[in-house]
Amino acid sequence: MTRVHNFCAGPCTLPLSVLEEVQAELVDFRGSGMSLIEMSHRSTEYSAVHMDTLALFREVFGVPDAFSILLLQGGATLQFAMVPMNLLGPGEQAAYVRSGTWGNGAQDDAAHHGEVYTAWDGRDLRYARMPADAELALRDGTRYLHVTSNETIEGIRFSEFPGVDVPLVADMSSDYLSRPIPWNRFDLVYGGVQKNLGPAGLGVVVVRDAVLERTNRDLGSYLRFDQHAAKDSLMNTPPMFAIYTMGKVLAWIRDLGGAGAMADRGARRSGAVYEAIDTSDGFYRGPAEVAHRSHMNVVFRLPDEKLDARFAEQAAGEGLVNLKGHRSVGGIRASIYNAMPDDGVEALVNFMSSFAEANA
Ligand code: PMP
Repeated sequence: MTRVHNFCAGPCTLPLSVLEEVQAELVDFRGSGMSLIEMSHRSTEYSAVHMDTLALFREVFGVPDAFSILLLQGGATLQFAMVPMNLLGPGEQAAYVRSGTWGNGAQDDAAHHGEVYTAWDGRDLRYARMPADAELALRDGTRYLHVTSNETIEGIRFSEFPGVDVPLVADMSSDYLSRPIPWNRFDLVYGGVQKNLGPAGLGVVVVRDAVLERTNRDLGSYLRFDQHAAKDSLMNTPPMFAIYTMGKVLAWIRDLGGAGAMADRGARRSGAVYEAIDTSDGFYRGPAEVAHRSHMNVVFRLPDEKLDARFAEQAAGEGLVNLKGHRSVGGIRASIYNAMPDDGVEALVNFMSSFAEANA
């Protein structure tokens, strides 16, 4: 078996040990005579997996008791709509940070479901950084401020979350559980799990219980946060395979030391690639301002587009795949999520150095 180093922006690499465990359990799940994906979501076996996964998510991410954890389908995109549907009452407004592709998308979708306004727009800066607190234009009585903790395509992140009087809502899809967060500032965080935590098909919403008490009830049942919370995310058939696999990834993260250890890991590994960029005499150039550089998605360009293409192609030949940047921004993007092995990062840094030498 040859496994490549997969730098895809998501879905992406999962820990090999997790894949092997899933493989070993697939056909006969723990002596039940059937696989987990063939059994009832009300079965004893699945119920244990489900509740264990919820408990592990809480433990590993340090989620306080004052929050509920919801396991939902529809990815982060459904939350672009579901968050304002649930949180915005009549006459209430929400503020959005337009920090790039995903922050902009969140606001544009939310506008269908309530009154939203722009607290800050990074467009004129070409999304090279996130805003400072003092730059946020917040109106009195704003219900929440929506931020995208890490912009997957532009390669920037909030190294510190805003410290403002308005409760925060964050899309954490591309740096979910890659660092501890100040829960006291948040009303809600959400994200798809297919980058840092598991396979596609599952979104996790972490919402403050006090918020659930006043969410909108005038919605179809699947759209209601309070209903999912009341039923431990078993209101309908959940994405069982994704939840089960995420449970294994969470155990893997716990064994490595949890969210704090992931933060160190992210800083160290993205740091190695940024160093390769910064010491290349301008051969590689990253668009993000240094203090705002993503620890998950390292974005850079070479002197011209032909070299970008050659870089991605030659890297793939050496087993470093999916390095082409997003079609909207071009260049190169190396996504280094929690499960990327150190070997992968080392191989990329070595490749960058030899490629620069041969082509500078
Ligand atoms: N937000 C961010 C930050 C993302 O990176 C993505 C996916 N790349 C999304 C939202 C959309 O996620 P999903 O495909 O789970 O709806």
